[in-house]
Amino acid sequence: MKIRRRQFVASALGAAAFLPLSRAWSADGTPAAGVARAAGPDIQARALDGGEVRLARGDVADLAAGMRGAVLLPDSAQYDGARHLWNGAFDLKPALIARCTGQADVRRAVGFARAHGLLTAVRGGGHSTSGKSSCNGGILIDLAPMQGVRVDPQARRAFVEPGTLLGQLDHETAAFGLVTTAGTVSHTGAAGLTLGGGFGRVGRRFGLACDNLVAADLVTADGRRERASANENPDLLWGLRGGGGNLGIVTEFEYQLHPMRPVIWGGVIAWPATAAREVLGVVAEIAGTAPDALNIEPILVAPPGAPPMVIVEVCWSGDDHPAGAARVAKLRALPKPLFDRLGPLPYVTLQQANDAANPHGIRHYSKAGFVPTLDARLIDDVVSTFLDHPPGSLGYVFQQCGGQINRVAADATAFPNRDAGYWVMVMANWMDAAEDEARKATARAAWKRLEPLTRGFYVNSATERDEADIRGNYGANYARLARLKDRYDPGNQFRLNVNVRPSRA
Ligand code: FAD
Repeated sequence: MKIRRRQFVASALGAAAFLPLSRAWSADGTPAAGVARAAGPDIQARALDGGEVRLARGDVADLAAGMRGAVLLPDSAQYDGARHLWNGAFDLKPALIARCTGQADVRRAVGFARAHGLLTAVRGGGHSTSGKSSCNGGILIDLAPMQGVRVDPQARRAFVEPGTLLGQLDHETAAFGLVTTAGTVSHTGAAGLTLGGGFGRVGRRFGLACDNLVAADLVTADGRRERASANENPDLLWGLRGGGGNLGIVTEFEYQLHPMRPVIWGGVIAWPATAAREVLGVVAEIAGTAPDALNIEPILVAPPGAPPMVIVEVCWSGDDHPAGAARVAKLRALPKPLFDRLGPLPYVTLQQANDAANPHGIRHYSKAGFVPTLDARLIDDVVSTFLDHPPGSLGYVFQQCGGQINRVAADATAFPNRDAGYWVMVMANWMDAAEDEARKATARAAWKRLEPLTRGFYVNSATERDEADIRGNYGANYARLARLKDRYDPGNQFRLNVNVRPSRA
């Protein structure tokens, strides 16, 4: 009689024989108790359609036995540490977490998710502001153990694993005097940032992170490995450049790198918030004629223990530092700054300057959209709303666009928002769960005023967007993305994202 492996594992003898394997999947040496008890009760889980799925312990044990990384259940010692996202407002509890160490693990976890019809979340750096990279009751395919960067300085390429954080990427490329566009907080994940677009301090010069994605390895919903590049599946590469996580799980990103002087000219300068109208007006004037090497971004915040202020962050990545300083001379001439910390500094230092202000576990809610310019009406709305609220209840962040970002045609990649001057975000950050609803309501009300001045939204900062919004935002690119979705994920296994629905799911 043919004995199925899972039945074997469930028997007492089988459980003993399985022990050496269980060490392999509990990487830190602590037995994942739920998995080890292969004969225990079924595990209740959430299906793709929201219904209930019951997972036999033996099936989960089989998954664990086939993976190099750990499979964690809620009673595993490492489960809590592994399930948390950057945004503390999302306290999500997956039924199991598959900690992947390589493409083989990812394929295994995807196969398991598909076979059981499980709701599936995929996590790179875990910085999804809308909590899309985990879920309640489903499987979390966790790529965090897959961190690594290999730089080929001759070819000017970086080969990056999907759990890699931006600081790690910057660190490795900077060692060769090279750079690719990465975001402004170094503990953000490269994977999610790149797939949704990827703005950063050198984006106006070198394009978005997704514009620098020249090839990728992908695990599709049916567990196949696909390569996307200019020569292999170029349509898939098109979709990965801005289509979010819709098409599968990227297990390796290959980026174009660019030579750049390691020391930039820039930093921060700030005034009391009462000067914000005047400061933003000057920023708008400078931005209007800024060369690609200049990135200039105002922020309206009240840092803990400090008065409300307008901070302007400058990054001049050009070789000629005096030319950069001259570009912002009018800003520096404004009276009575609270501080002026502009000058030469290492690019990687600036890349880490916002890390501490955005700690893991902070509760966050934001809404954002693109604007053509920082015009007087926008400035007036933002500044008056900010000043009307108690310090610390609202903040505004501006991300400059333009330059090389806008030179790419809107249909050249899936990323659709190519004509903006800035991206504007209104946000609330807080620590106490009791304030959740009040804080969100404040930010929503501020967004209601701002929204009519915006045009389209950034996939990587999309909170509470429905299908019509998503279709509208991708515009003419939506139909092509939907065709790719039909081809690579017809069952919508990967739906916890800014979802492009396949035609039949
Ligand atoms: P995760 O939360 O891990 O994932 C986000 C989405 O991508 C999820 O839907 C997930 O399923 C999917 N995904 C993740 N990895 C993969 C993969 N390998 N294959 C397929 N799908 C995958 N954006 C900018 O452009 N510029 C910035 O400067 C910037 N700064 C930020 C600073 C902070 C503090 C935060 C919280 C966000 C910032 N963002 C910025 C937004 C950022 O781009 C998104 O939050 C992005 O999703 C983060 O990537 P991640 O890997 O950490 O995301």
